[in-house]
Amino acid sequence: MTLAVGVIGTGMIGQDHIRRLTQVLSGARVVAVTDIDRDRAAAAAPEGAKVFDTPQALVRSDTVEAVVICSWGPAHEEQLLDCIAAGKPVFCEKPLVTSEAAALRVMEAEVAFGHRLVQVGFMRRFDADYRRLKAVIDGGTLGAPLMYHSVHRNASVPEGLYTSDMPLNDTLVHDADISRWLLSDEITGVEVRLPRRSRQGGELRDPHIVLLHMAGGAVVDVEISVNIAYGYDIRGEVSCETGVAALPNRPATVISDMHGIRQAIPADWRERFIEAYDQEFREWIAAAGQGTATGPSTWDGYAATLVADAALRAVSSGNLEVVGMREKPDLYSQQPRLAA
Ligand code: NAP
Repeated sequence: MTLAVGVIGTGMIGQDHIRRLTQVLSGARVVAVTDIDRDRAAAAAPEGAKVFDTPQALVRSDTVEAVVICSWGPAHEEQLLDCIAAGKPVFCEKPLVTSEAAALRVMEAEVAFGHRLVQVGFMRRFDADYRRLKAVIDGGTLGAPLMYHSVHRNASVPEGLYTSDMPLNDTLVHDADISRWLLSDEITGVEVRLPRRSRQGGELRDPHIVLLHMAGGAVVDVEISVNIAYGYDIRGEVSCETGVAALPNRPATVISDMHGIRQAIPADWRERFIEAYDQEFREWIAAAGQGTATGPSTWDGYAATLVADAALRAVSSGNLEVVGMREKPDLYSQQPRLAA
């Protein structure tokens, strides 16, 4: 069966996911697109796909079996609620939503529906290096994880569009989610320290050091630098009781030339995580084809939203800000079983 997919938002990542669904992966085809800018949607539409005027019309169309949301964060809530009301599986790019209240509304709607429909775009969980790192930690041979050192460096961010809150409410969400997943634990508190400001970003508040306090006592430190100039550099190292496990630096190509020996650095997230995005969508297609969702859930999107809110409060207060999560609904305690 080929899953008929509608894509909402045909900007940078929307176009990349349309390419992925159309040219790379099997099992799905893009039958519908929409964007606030209709011309942009029409330009991104694969052959035969219909251009809809509104997200709601796309979601309600009988030709669309599952939806991919790639619009900007503040639009996600309404679009997610439309998908849940229509009973259609939906992949939603991060952030799930942009406020705790919105996350709770989406969670309540999905719980009332009765089974999972939403997968959130935390693609690091599908990256082979992160999966190997998690297998080592879960295997227990190094003892309990005590600290996780996470580094998130972007070469640059769009001037004027990327504001000083975004390292914490747009970028940190990836590190927060991967920390919860790697350590199989929840974040209970957040501190933020502001080092000397980089002149690379002008007035932008950059870089940040964030401390995530985990319920089990482990502590995660996250460096977020969004104007590091040299490339997109993602690192991670877990210090356990009797050893250390780390991501390899990627890509692994070693270049030797007249300037010396060096390793190539990816230019951006598309290059670094290209295989992770492909795998994320392979698994989404498999679950959506059975009317459900696996992988990062609404609960995970909710957790990341709370961490982002706490981090922003911590910048103002200078204190450790508490992350107070609701009780986890049963729906999110187990992954849905898929038929073979
Ligand atoms: P983008 O290039 O600005 O694309 C977003 C597109 O959605 C734009 O064409 C925008 O139109 C359109 N749009 C905004 N509101 C809409 C609405 N209500 N209905 C329909 N279309 C709407 O941004 P992007 O970089 O692709 O990011 C999109 C989402 O993906 C964001 O949530 C972002 O955080 C996420 N993202 C995730 C990753 C990842 O690694 N997982 C990487 C990049 C981005 P206008 O430009 O006219 O507003």
